[in-house]
Amino acid sequence: MASPPWNPSTWRSKPIKQAPSYPEPEKLTKVVGELSRMPPLVHPNEILALKAHLRDVAQGRAFLLQGGDCAELFDYCEQGAIESKIKLLLQMSVVLIWGTNKRVVRIGRMAGQYAKPRSSPTEMHQGREIPSFRGDILNGYHVDERDIDPNRLTRAYHYSAATLNFIRASIASGIADLHRPLDWGLGHVRDPVLKEKYSLIAGSIQQTLRFLQAINSRPDELHTVELFTSHEGLLLDYEEALTRRLLLDTPAATHAQQAYYDSSAHFIWIGDRTRQLDHAHVEFFRGIANPIGVKVGPTTPPQDLLHLLRTLNPDREPGKITLITRYGASSVARLLPQHIRAVEDSEYRRCVVWQCDPMHGNTLSTPSGIKTRRFNDIYSELQESLRIHKEQGSYLGGVHLELTGDAVTECLGGSEGLAEDDLSTNYTSFCDPRLNEKQALELAFLVADHFSQ
Ligand code: PEP
Ligand code: MN
Repeated sequence: MASPPWNPSTWRSKPIKQAPSYPEPEKLTKVVGELSRMPPLVHPNEILALKAHLRDVAQGRAFLLQGGDCAELFDYCEQGAIESKIKLLLQMSVVLIWGTNKRVVRIGRMAGQYAKPRSSPTEMHQGREIPSFRGDILNGYHVDERDIDPNRLTRAYHYSAATLNFIRASIASGIADLHRPLDWGLGHVRDPVLKEKYSLIAGSIQQTLRFLQAINSRPDELHTVELFTSHEGLLLDYEEALTRRLLLDTPAATHAQQAYYDSSAHFIWIGDRTRQLDHAHVEFFRGIANPIGVKVGPTTPPQDLLHLLRTLNPDREPGKITLITRYGASSVARLLPQHIRAVEDSEYRRCVVWQCDPMHGNTLSTPSGIKTRRFNDIYSELQESLRIHKEQGSYLGGVHLELTGDAVTECLGGSEGLAEDDLSTNYTSFCDPRLNEKQALELAFLVADHFSQ
């Protein structure tokens, strides 16, 4: 059956969840007009390069690492914060390349992860009901800044552009040169066992590279790497304004290859709260040529998964869709196998990227009300997912993590053994708790060990 007509604004006729109501709609119209004239943040050639990499992931030839903050703040647009996140993603990829023996595709939750879905539109603050913080693209975290301000959409564009510019500059300047893995520094990793394990791997990679040099073989791609960007495509006014009908910039491009690209990021995903089949987010996402993600959780019936795939990827392009599964450590064994079977026994076999998000099914509150996650739960959901995919004959091709390069104390446990009392030492997240550098590296070792056995 032919798909109904689509354009970047057809989502407007559908019911929508999590949509803000702007106090001054005429201001929003002006801002959206401005954004529609701004240059694309990413190029269609890059978007298609990522899609080709993700096809390799879907078919088991590469591994996907995606990570960054839960809520990126405009304040994180700063040299140190950006650099430490890039370096952490690179350190993790060295471990993953070594363990999986495959290419690693890297996507940061960066340069645009500014919009947050919330379970309640308001929250209590000192006995007063105030609007919830919905991410820097809509309102501010500070209690005096909770009104929605459409001008923040333009600010989000500029902060994305500045962040992306620095990511590109750092990569072009050799931050990612795999010939110098030890220069990346181990930051806050103090654990001697972990440090030793990482140094051994980095050392053995260096040895291999020296050998390649000695025999005069220096593949260009070893000098630098690609780092793609992503965010939840929640705020459709913003995404629509940055969606352009573009022609691929290659001599061989034909008119038929003209397609709509959402130029706000290389990859965007639909969150767990907005993936209703007949709603606005699915409608918007079905028309863009970017590779896209869909969060899948305990409330996703297996049949919905097939409806989603048929709507979002009717041409069955391998790697077009990443299913980001997030059940919780205690539910994964019950729910993941039926989701795998629904997809892998259908016409979408080996067509999707299966990615484990071991964070979002494992959020809890301490008795004193601090939002946290147990490292053991995160570790165990990832371990279980690896085991189940192996058992089912499918390929777990990626991980999706909330992490930061800073030495935060937001998740309990890990090899530092963070306890409830330690959470207040350096808890700086404005949304969900993130893994620190050491906890993130530990997960990379878990995946590496699984594939190297
Ligand atoms: C998130 O990734 O920050 C998020 C809100 O996840 P989910 O949609 O899976 O709850
Ligand atoms: Mn989150």
